[in-house]
Amino acid sequence: KKWVYLFQEGKADMRDLLGGKGANLAEMTNIGLPVPPGLTITTEACNEYYANGQQFPAGLVDQIKEALAQVEKQIGKKFGDENNPLLVSVRSGAKFSMPGMMDTILNLGLNDRTVEGLARATSNERFALDCYRRFIQMFSDVVLEVPHYQFETVLEKHKERLGVHYDHELDVATLREVVKEYKAITRREAGVDFPQDPMEQLLLAVKAVFRSWNNQRAIVYRKINGIPDHLGTAVNVQTMVFGNMGNDCGTGVAFTRNPSTGEPVLYGEYLINAQGEDVVAGIRTPQPISTLQAEMPEVYQQFVAVCKILENHYKDMQDIEFTIERGKLYILQTRTGKRTAAAALKIAVDMVNEGLIDRKTAIQRIEPASLNQLLHRRIDPNAKLDVVAKGLPASPGAASGQVVFDADEAEKLGLNGEKVILVRMETTPDDIHGIIQAQGILTSRGGMTSHAAVVARGMGKPCVCGCEAIKIDYENEQFQVGERVFRKGDIISIDGATGQVIAGQVPMIDPEISAEFELLLSWADEIRTMKVRANADTPEDAAKARQFGAEGIGLCRTEHMFMAQDRLPIVQEMILAENKEEREAALAKLLPMQREDFYGILKAMAGYPVYIRLLDPPLHEFLPNQEELVVEITTLKLTGGDPAVIKAKEQLLKKVRALHEFNPMLGHRGCRLAITWPEIYAMQVRAIYQATAQLIKEGVDARPEVMIPLVIEAEELRKLRELSVQVAKEVMAEYGVEVPISVGTMIELPRACVTADEIAPHADYFSFGTNDLTQTTLGFSRDDAEGKFMQDYLDQKIFAENPFIVLDTRGVGKLMKMATQLGRQANPALKVGICGEHGGEPKSIFFCQEAGLDYVSCSPYRVPIARLAAAQAAL
Ligand code: ADP
Ligand code: MG
Ligand code: MG
Repeated sequence: KKWVYLFQEGKADMRDLLGGKGANLAEMTNIGLPVPPGLTITTEACNEYYANGQQFPAGLVDQIKEALAQVEKQIGKKFGDENNPLLVSVRSGAKFSMPGMMDTILNLGLNDRTVEGLARATSNERFALDCYRRFIQMFSDVVLEVPHYQFETVLEKHKERLGVHYDHELDVATLREVVKEYKAITRREAGVDFPQDPMEQLLLAVKAVFRSWNNQRAIVYRKINGIPDHLGTAVNVQTMVFGNMGNDCGTGVAFTRNPSTGEPVLYGEYLINAQGEDVVAGIRTPQPISTLQAEMPEVYQQFVAVCKILENHYKDMQDIEFTIERGKLYILQTRTGKRTAAAALKIAVDMVNEGLIDRKTAIQRIEPASLNQLLHRRIDPNAKLDVVAKGLPASPGAASGQVVFDADEAEKLGLNGEKVILVRMETTPDDIHGIIQAQGILTSRGGMTSHAAVVARGMGKPCVCGCEAIKIDYENEQFQVGERVFRKGDIISIDGATGQVIAGQVPMIDPEISAEFELLLSWADEIRTMKVRANADTPEDAAKARQFGAEGIGLCRTEHMFMAQDRLPIVQEMILAENKEEREAALAKLLPMQREDFYGILKAMAGYPVYIRLLDPPLHEFLPNQEELVVEITTLKLTGGDPAVIKAKEQLLKKVRALHEFNPMLGHRGCRLAITWPEIYAMQVRAIYQATAQLIKEGVDARPEVMIPLVIEAEELRKLRELSVQVAKEVMAEYGVEVPISVGTMIELPRACVTADEIAPHADYFSFGTNDLTQTTLGFSRDDAEGKFMQDYLDQKIFAENPFIVLDTRGVGKLMKMATQLGRQANPALKVGICGEHGGEPKSIFFCQEAGLDYVSCSPYRVPIARLAAAQAAL
């Protein structure tokens, strides 16, 4: 079996086998980019290693040696040569990029003798020793599990002694001493001498990379990002090139476009005279890539050209790692760059305009849920801000929260629903759990490509990094900016778009939709086949929904209208009525108010349908709480209250008791109310059509559709439809205008789904109320489930996802499909849509497309997400 591929033998589409890094190194080699030669050990070898009880599979070692011999030939140096040794890096690389999660070792092949050879061959002793001390540390850390701080302490000690700040300022004598001390640490901590045989080093390193697939951080990262555990990692063994040979050398990371805003300018940073992870680790704050243009104009030009080639080749924004050795550029990695939602949009739209990709590709590139980031609130630009410091704008968005210095604490508070800003000198992969729960991240060190920045952008969280003005004191849990001190628990705000750090809470404003956003959504609109409507109960929400592109209202609830302060007494009067006359008298007072409500909404949605759901909740929801009422009456009695008031309250209590329900979710609600008291729905329908008639007279294209909730039986709908049509006709006669009448029903109970063929002849449309349909199909209430046992179902993997968030397609979805088919068979003109919360959830929207629905309806802020998801579903 072939376990090892030379770079020139691979291709970009071999990610499964070679990992993302290896496949791209191969691809770049084959398109002629300056990639140091090397070989890739396959993911299959890794999996075989685990299957074998952590032993190399047969043949692997020989294949590594053969391939390495090829590399030696190509480069003209020999591995382990005491005069001019070939050194390699050993790099992990899984199918999906897991930045910083697994291990990499640089400068492998050095030992006490080859280090002298390297010094002679390069006439640079300082450099050779610098490589060796790095190698001993990395190898001991990764392979022999010696804690790296032990080495760092030694380095710090020497820097302090010499009074220097940076690693590269250490002189030859000191480096020799450092190497000696490092080897002593390894011997003491690992109980073995630092291995001197390069081949032994290499094989141990490969094993260590295999093992790093299952280190704790990697496992957590895979869990969070849904990467399967069985993929395994590949290992790349690559000829070293050196960025730490002097001031004509360096190393860096750059994105071909700005990953924060999407602007088409190179975005990145580099360090002169440095190696590998110095940039990401935030040891020195690196320089922006733009200054490379002045420092090394030729290299810069070359790099710009490589970026262009890579973008044209991969047709996407790339994240590139490079090293400059004595003025020569090498490319060490490329991958599709992670970006914010705003950047994703801008890049997709720009690339269409540049002719790099087509509109469909652009639409498919955007994760619908990520648009949430853009619909977030931001700092009010007119607000007076108490700006205390400014760092790098690493990930846009604004956040306020209490200062926390520790990832564990951030996690704890975050899970408690508190808002925190995680403040660190720098973050590492071990802080992930805290970052997840924080509102935003602030670091005092590290650049735009530091760990904190990359991770925050990936999560769409605000981040300000490299804010050197803040002096963090972990010991005393505080940071200082000039004279000011901020302690743990103090509230600060950060603005990841400007880099500002602000004292206290800040005022926020609603988001706006950018031109690119608008354009991409308009492309989505051309492609999608389902309509997107909004759930909105007020003219303000209706206007917002229109602004976000909703094509009507799919669910307008009317119960909030009954709850308003000035109406509740009248509603209670209606409920307490002893007979039909009294009830109608109360309803007559409500009529003009309801007409007003509908007038506003229908006007805001002129030209688009508005599905108005008639009263749904049980009537006791409009009455005072029974216990509170008892207390009130008792108090009145004890304090000698007005007997008339007491009597009225007692009447009320009697009614409250009479209306008490054992299980309100399954009680006297929905259309059942109108079966008992048809005059309630009659009033609502009258108000709807009066408002409509008036609007039409005013020249406004009002389009109401009456929606009857909670139907289970054709006869219910037949009766209520008859009632609605009769009332509507009365109104038309009264106003002298013709309005098309539409009456449909919510389908939110299993029986309605099963008897949909009987119900459909009485309905102009079905609207799946998947919140109730999920509750009644699963037989548990959302509040009880989420409060008590849903997490157990998820933890034990009984449910893959919370069915109240992602539609349960195999259960609830099957009923929906059945109802759609039966309904359309009986009534081919039937329109079918969804108005539960699932209507704004991308996976559920995909299902709606598959089930053949005509529209989805969701909250106004989710309308853009639904427009995009519906287009992707249609592709
Ligand atoms: P990660 O997956 O954590 O980014 P990499 O394998 O990409 O790890 O290695 C990290 C860094 O090490 C690279 O960005 C590069 O700067 C440096 N590096 C890796 N291989 C080489 C090499 N052959 N020559 C020089 N530097 C290297
Ligand atoms: Mg890398
Ligand atoms: Mg319902």
